[in-house]
Amino acid sequence: MSVRLDNALLVLPGRRAGVGSMETQGGRILGIEMDSAARADKLVIPGLVNAHAHSAMTLMRGLGSGLPLDRWLHEAIFPVEAKLKAAHVLAGAKWAAREMVAGGTTTVADMYDFPEEGEKALSAAGMRANTCTVALPFIPGRIGKSVEYASSPALGQLAMRDLCVHSEYLSSEEACFALAEANRTLCRPVHVHVSETKAEHEECIKRHGKTPMEYLASTGLFDHGGYAAHCVWCTDGDFELMREKGVSLVHNPTSNLKLGSGIARVKRAMELGVNVALGTDGCASNDDLDMFEEMRLAALLACGTSHDPAAISAWDAIEMATANGARALGRDGLGVLAPGAPADFAVIDLKGCNLTPALDAANLVVYSAHASDVMMTVVDGKVVYDRSKPDGGAADRAEFLGAVRDIGLGGFS
Ligand SMILES: [Zn+2]
Repeated sequence: MSVRLDNALLVLPGRRAGVGSMETQGGRILGIEMDSAARADKLVIPGLVNAHAHSAMTLMRGLGSGLPLDRWLHEAIFPVEAKLKAAHVLAGAKWAAREMVAGGTTTVADMYDFPEEGEKALSAAGMRANTCTVALPFIPGRIGKSVEYASSPALGQLAMRDLCVHSEYLSSEEACFALAEANRTLCRPVHVHVSETKAEHEECIKRHGKTPMEYLASTGLFDHGGYAAHCVWCTDGDFELMREKGVSLVHNPTSNLKLGSGIARVKRAMELGVNVALGTDGCASNDDLDMFEEMRLAALLACGTSHDPAAISAWDAIEMATANGARALGRDGLGVLAPGAPADFAVIDLKGCNLTPALDAANLVVYSAHASDVMMTVVDGKVVYDRSKPDGGAADRAEFLGAVRDIGLGGFS
């Protein structure tokens, strides 16, 4: 299969953009030709990498709005999650995959129960997915299952399986040691939540005399790197440790704002050499899977809070959502439009009012575009979303809403 795009404004490596043609063959970008006389009617960006999500939380979109993290988890989320069965997670992840590919997301790191179902749904949608079994020590046998899952072959070429502890506060020394030991052979970055709230950060210091990042790193958990969601309360020392250990920071600006957790100091992390990626987090705290929104917020928050309009540039935000995300997930080489690179990209319709005129490509992507402006998404050279084609969404919608009702959340749909 090959895809050819002409009159395309291409977002290229080296922070360059220009109009030209791009062609793919198999799963790779075959060639790019620039044409300075051509006018663009579409914009092409590398596929977006959502480096921290809980896909099946589409089932509980917006639940518990207005609660802080600890109450949100215990009063709104955990009681519903206790009812989840494999079929619910499959339906929720399928629905999430639809939303993600329709918004230009080609790769996702998914942390959730029944990961085989998540992997199945995301892979069936044609996405690249990093899934994991969370090593929750209070569930008997779960630490072993986490290791077993990461050690067994993933479903298809595009999927990867990682090790995962939820966080310092939902983990144990035993879990961290077991995963660190298994990772001597697996050598995979570990997926984790770190210092999301002030209370979590401070309680860890009281318990262990160490910050969550220091504590988790001291167990050997990050000896092959990791990707840590949130990091809102991380210290400069934590950032230095992250650079040293190869732990990427996954910034989740919408979720952190909505739950009142705070604003991660991503500019400082970047200055100290940390790889910064972006993620949406789950749909119950975001409440969508729109990576354009995350790019925009990442840039706006950094500029606004530092009183510096150049604190995080539009190009910085694009790299966070593409190549940096790929690096975080141990998928180096993804996230750029270049001959020979994997053919993962999103095509944005430039004819919309909000995208005309196209004066500055990076600025347009970050500050003007929405997920709904994406007209086509390609992963590994295959078209996984085409706005102009019927997509059989009715059956998935019925299955999804059936699952929502089954877990006791009727709503208005
Ligand atoms: Zn999360």
